[in-house]
Amino acid sequence: MCRTNRGVTVWFTGLSGAGKTTVAKEVEKRLEEKKIRIQRLDGDIVRESLTKDLGFSKEDRNENIKRNTFVAKLLTKHDVITLCSFISPYRLAREYARREIEEVGEFVEIFVNSPIEVCEERDVKGLYQQARDGNIDNFTGISDPYQAPRNPDLELRTDQETLKESAQKVIDYLTKQNYI
Ligand code: ADP
Repeated sequence: MCRTNRGVTVWFTGLSGAGKTTVAKEVEKRLEEKKIRIQRLDGDIVRESLTKDLGFSKEDRNENIKRNTFVAKLLTKHDVITLCSFISPYRLAREYARREIEEVGEFVEIFVNSPIEVCEERDVKGLYQQARDGNIDNFTGISDPYQAPRNPDLELRTDQETLKESAQKVIDYLTKQNYI
């Protein structure tokens, strides 16, 4: 089979602390070793720049996804493997991203799935504690909804897999699809 020339957006969705950033970084490292052109777009980082003006209402979250989809689409159009890690809790917003990006390339939705109890136990950024204490409004999984993907292209159970296993599943999927 010949290798596709199309770019790909790999879209990691899941609760805070599920492992989106950690897996995306590991995948980034492995793809860089293969000299593949990649770009990571991370919710925490873009919210300090591109979408600094936005909060966490449904409207703002959708706007956040809209702007990042715009960037991911440009990168994908130029055959960059674009790794997006956004909680992206709303199904319709993720469908919007897929629709837009599939106009120029491939879109892979990855459900980074870990039970909220495990995410809360990890509490990587101390946000669950703050949300429980009532210091953060609209916190996904606690005071805001998370609409899990019904039919993701790939699901990672980061509470049951090691990081290396999760990253390998992503690489294996992209390889099987001839995206890399
Ligand atoms: P998110 O980006 O989804 O908010 P992070 O990647 O910041 O989550 O944090 C996930 C945490 O879970 C990290 O501390 C990471 O070391 C841990 N972890 C444990 N197992 C895994 C796994 N299989 N994949 C990814 N992260 C894992």
